[in-house]
Amino acid sequence: MSGPVVMKFGGTSVEDAAAFERVAAIVAARVEMRPVVVVSAMARFTDALVAAVRQAAHGEPAEAAATLDEHLQRHVAVLRALVPAPERRELGDGLEEARRTLADLLRIIAAHPGTRLPLHDEVVSFGERLSSQLMAAVLRARGLRARWLDARRCIRTDAQHTRAEPLPDATRAATRAEAGAALAEGETPVLGGFIGSAEDGATTTLGRGGSDYSAALVGAALDAAEIQIWTDVTGFLAADPRVVPHARQIPRLSYAEAAELAFFGAKVLHPRTIQPAVAQGIPVRVCNSRQPEAPGTWIAADTEPAARAVKAIAHKSGITLVQVTAARMLGAYGFLRAFFEVFERHRASVDVVATSEVSISATLDDAAALPALLPELEKLGTVGVEEGNAIVCVVGEGLATSAGVAGEAFGAIRDVNVRMISQGASRINLTFVVGEDRVREVVKKLHAAFFELPPPAPGGD
Ligand code: ADP
Ligand code: ASP
Ligand code: MG
Repeated sequence: MSGPVVMKFGGTSVEDAAAFERVAAIVAARVEMRPVVVVSAMARFTDALVAAVRQAAHGEPAEAAATLDEHLQRHVAVLRALVPAPERRELGDGLEEARRTLADLLRIIAAHPGTRLPLHDEVVSFGERLSSQLMAAVLRARGLRARWLDARRCIRTDAQHTRAEPLPDATRAATRAEAGAALAEGETPVLGGFIGSAEDGATTTLGRGGSDYSAALVGAALDAAEIQIWTDVTGFLAADPRVVPHARQIPRLSYAEAAELAFFGAKVLHPRTIQPAVAQGIPVRVCNSRQPEAPGTWIAADTEPAARAVKAIAHKSGITLVQVTAARMLGAYGFLRAFFEVFERHRASVDVVATSEVSISATLDDAAALPALLPELEKLGTVGVEEGNAIVCVVGEGLATSAGVAGEAFGAIRDVNVRMISQGASRINLTFVVGEDRVREVVKKLHAAFFELPPPAPGGD
């Protein structure tokens, strides 16, 4: 028998009763595929929970708890619309209990600042815990044999709160025991994404947008036939639709292309999602929960030869450029290693690197690490820091074999100052850094240059 299909539904796919109903219809139509359902928190709830933790830490726990009421009420509305008694009452009581527990946790955070980090994950986990319980009930109300699983019993991680690393072997064993058992009994497992637990049982989270990653981990653990990421767009688009609303849809991507795009800012997929899928050769499909019949984007190892060298453009703002100038040192043995070790020690990831005769530049996407990095970098040379940049990444397997893409790209944005250029080691991307204030314009121009027909020749009318 082929493996089950993991179906992950993002926040906008579970934003209200109508969205829950759409999901239930999608799952019900695919029961014969043996679905395993992974859900995000209802849209905007995670943001609200994160903000509540911050407000509590600033000494306003009661006010923070009050901001969550409207979101808990959204769960009640779905419950009333879609779940009949007696489950409606049980879950309603559960929501009331969640409200009290959240208020208690926020009070503890305010009183004991040292608890903020671990309790942050405990508070934030309510988003996925509540949405997944609700989803299981909605599916049961539709006649499916859905079994809710506490994702924290499946996804086992280290103890780095807010960005925990999954422990692959423990996760595989636990997920097989929990979800595998439900599948074996012909049930549909339903669990929250994004959350896990550390060895001591503490709740952890995988980083914002991490439900996609959860789905891939569950898929890998269960040897799934396919991992489906259901969202609010019809698959991967050739550019961020918030910048290019008419961006083209991409039917197929290779794992490497999808991984590059996700890493360099295509929010539709969490950057870590591809990794467990590649390891086991499980295809990933990105689909639209509002247009379930549309084929979406198919991501797998093989990719058909594409008509165009470039498949898509990703971008990421909020980038800080760090440059160390060390005229005599740069070529010296051990210098580059010392440079990278500074970043490694502080767990600051470097996305793009460029070197010249006398300097080395690197991009940082989390400037919070800077105060710790700077004194150490200053030991290596003169340090320059420039905030307010953006990375733009042009991706396509065809880049490895076709000349002229760089010329075309830079020709299209010739009036923009490009700070750094790097051709990825995989040779399927061309990555460069521009000022944040120009990035939207750059992405629009690149999309036009690579994907839109040239404007009609001048002269006609
Ligand atoms: P979900 O809640 O389903 O996880 P996300 O908001 O995390 O959804 O991701 C989907 C969003 O990603 C889209 O609505 C779109 O605005 C954004 N996005 C950015 N780049 C791309 C891209 N290249 N293709 C598709 N969507 C993209
Ligand atoms: N709910 C989490 C977030 O908003 C995880 C996810 O949606 O993927 O970041
Ligand atoms: Mg997402």
